[in-house]
Amino acid sequence: MTTRDQLETLSRNLWWAWQPDVLDIFEQLNPDVFRQSGNNPTLALRHAEPLALASKALQRRVQEAYDRFQGYLATPGTHADTARTAYFCMEYGLHESLNLYSGGLGILAGDHVKAASDLGIDFAAIGLMLRDGYFQQRFNADGWQQEEYAELNPHDHPLELVRDRKGDVLRVTVHLGQTPIQLQAWRCLVGKSRLYLLDADLDENPQEHRSLTRKLYQGDRRIRLQQEIVLGIGGLRLLRAMSTAPEVYHMNEGHCAFLSLELLREQIAAGRTVEQAEAWVRQHCVFTTHTPVMAGHDRFEPELLIEQLSELREGLGLTEAELLAYGRVNPDDVQEWFTMTVLGLKLSRTANGVSQLNGEVARDQWAALYARPEAKQYAPIGAITNGVHLPTWTAPDAVAFARKHLGPWYHRAESEYWKKMEHVPDGDIWALRNALRRRLIRFAEQHAAQQSLQMPFALDDDALTICFARRFATYKRATLFFHDLDRVAKLFNTPERPLQMIFAGKAHPADDGGKRFIQQIVQLSQHEALRGKIVVLENYNMEVGRFLTSGADVWLNNPRRPMEASGTSGMKTNDHGGLNLSILDGWWPEGYDGVNGWSIGSDASATMAPDPVKQDDEDAAFLYDTLETSVLPEFYTRDAATNLPTAWIRRMRRAMGELPAAFSAERMVADYAEAMYGPDWDAE
Ligand SMILES: *Cc1c(COP(=O)(O)O)cnc(C)c1O
Repeated sequence: MTTRDQLETLSRNLWWAWQPDVLDIFEQLNPDVFRQSGNNPTLALRHAEPLALASKALQRRVQEAYDRFQGYLATPGTHADTARTAYFCMEYGLHESLNLYSGGLGILAGDHVKAASDLGIDFAAIGLMLRDGYFQQRFNADGWQQEEYAELNPHDHPLELVRDRKGDVLRVTVHLGQTPIQLQAWRCLVGKSRLYLLDADLDENPQEHRSLTRKLYQGDRRIRLQQEIVLGIGGLRLLRAMSTAPEVYHMNEGHCAFLSLELLREQIAAGRTVEQAEAWVRQHCVFTTHTPVMAGHDRFEPELLIEQLSELREGLGLTEAELLAYGRVNPDDVQEWFTMTVLGLKLSRTANGVSQLNGEVARDQWAALYARPEAKQYAPIGAITNGVHLPTWTAPDAVAFARKHLGPWYHRAESEYWKKMEHVPDGDIWALRNALRRRLIRFAEQHAAQQSLQMPFALDDDALTICFARRFATYKRATLFFHDLDRVAKLFNTPERPLQMIFAGKAHPADDGGKRFIQQIVQLSQHEALRGKIVVLENYNMEVGRFLTSGADVWLNNPRRPMEASGTSGMKTNDHGGLNLSILDGWWPEGYDGVNGWSIGSDASATMAPDPVKQDDEDAAFLYDTLETSVLPEFYTRDAATNLPTAWIRRMRRAMGELPAAFSAERMVADYAEAMYGPDWDAE
């Protein structure tokens, strides 16, 4: 096999997305093309410099990577006996070059697919071929977000059309009302997992439906409903057309829950009664809910749902009221809209929130549903706390550090592995922190230099660096840090304790409130007292996320509790020795132990504070106090003999020792496999 053939094989599987050294090989093939394409291996290979390919050193690296890849595919994994699983989700964050995600839900799903591959689960994921994906963000001179959509060309990515045995492109049909829509699907290999992306952009389809699968989260409810028909119903029909036979169907968030109705239709068509069919569907489906706000759950007006699902309803042989009942808390309420989460809960075997707190919030949210006489059939809501796929998110310096001090990297998801942090010398821990912070600052400098909005840049390699990056949804309170500008100005202008911040994040295109938050931070970064010490990076994506979460000394998270379902960005700091400074929301009440970071406030209850204005005042005051009395002094108090910040390193050692394994996607998917996917539950 030639080097080029080996590279071709490597490029066709997203395994590279969590192999920094393999990505580095692709970069060497043509550094300019690689970087300009957003780190795309397929394009770097297509435009490989002959001289690079001819290098003996590179050929040896390719051979080594190729062997490792084949070895990975041949390794069965620890959970190979898990039931065959189909996983449905609206978005997938697998790599920055494949823009099929908007935020946390997608990143989580991407990490889930990768960890399922590592564990050796027979795993097929279903999503949409989002050719326009989510927008690229720029700021205009006023700091106002501009959205640009860059079209994804499937041929520039490891995507292949799914074909039937004869070699023809496989098609499945769904109906939007009475209009048939044809779908094709693109297959993307992700290690041992497969991801299938449904695509409505076909000549045969009516013009107005061709763009159905192009964009994430469009405002129009009819389009949203149609996308969900494609995902849930089209997704199952695709699995059937490919003759795959999953034993368990995992619905990740309500968008895909029509899947359960299509399964029901199949069972009824096979001659079962409605009761038998429901029991069968419940045995094979599991449901994950993320949304802590009632208004955030997808719901549709009855008329629209009945109109759009008419074909399915005929197949089910149900009356309109019977169909609507699956999505209603109270089936007798003819006004009640159809809620996708309710459908998921009614037709699953088990359900979960994504942190312990989020599970509690979900049980409160749906208390009325579970108070109903028929509720004993509904899925009990438990919790499986999210985790992050460590190989995807861990910076190369941190991997090298772990290899040197803790042992082979493939043990990374074991808590024993990280416990060895106890014996790592202070000086080595601090050296890692400095290296990662400096790497971030170099990245931020280059990134900021290429932005359309130029901003003063005076970040210091050795200054305490706080990062904040997330979707600018208003509940995340991105501007809370600037609540009291006088106190903030003092924090930033104490010469012996320099402080600096890096921000990034996108607001939903329709969310002017979120855009105003970004604009305020951009404007504050020009403020006399803060100039150059606050940098806002454009276009938060997985690459920006990797640099920020690995480089941050402190990761700031200040949502309005309990609206952060889990949050995963803070988990990405754990094996880099970054310290979380966070509201006790999402995963943090489970992670925080008093030493391994800081809380903002001491309340970790599932109820929302009655007075948000007062809550902002209190949280901001608590945040400033913590910064003044603990964060800044500990960072800058150096031991007289060693010149090391001993108290800070103690916190880092604790965070790195306790948190990475517990909040890894490997742990998370193992929990799903053991608690939700079977294999040992009764299949008939
Ligand atoms: C990790 C990550 C997220 C999700 O993080 P939250 O803590 O839920 O905000 C979103 N976007 C990107 C680019 C990420 O890397």
